[in-house]
Amino acid sequence: MDRPITGFDRDEEGHWVALLSCGHRQHVRHQPPFVDRAWTQSEDGRAEALGQMLDCPLCDRMEPPERAVRYKSTPIFTELTIPKALRRDHSTKPGVWGRIRVLEGNLLYEVMAPSIQSFTLDSTSTAFIVPEVPHRVEKIRRVIFQVDFLKVPDL
Ligand SMILES: [Zn+2]
Repeated sequence: MDRPITGFDRDEEGHWVALLSCGHRQHVRHQPPFVDRAWTQSEDGRAEALGQMLDCPLCDRMEPPERAVRYKSTPIFTELTIPKALRRDHSTKPGVWGRIRVLEGNLLYEVMAPSIQSFTLDSTSTAFIVPEVPHRVEKIRRVIFQVDFLKVPDL
């Protein structure tokens, strides 16, 4: 899915890396004559590229950035205490990932993008909530779960 460029960094070899709003990093190498990204070579060129969209396959695969760390968690919910807001479509803010941890029972997790998919989670599943992607959860029968929120520090 498309993500805006929020900044730039360089890798160990000096190649430019675009930082995306989701927390992922994507190489924007300038390797003439094969790949021409001359704009990466000047500060003005990079400044102009801020806000432009890049397709982020890692977001499509619901994989959080490696450097994302937990900064808070919800209370522990059960089938009796799931907040209504989690059972309706909702989404996290740019750069905010969720990690659903089912402690007992099963939880239905539905995502609306990049395609509509539903997952039945249990205590052996690891499910991530992708920033800004509408989703909802629903009880099946009994469940105890918690959601952690993660982001890349200093994003
Ligand atoms: Zn991404």
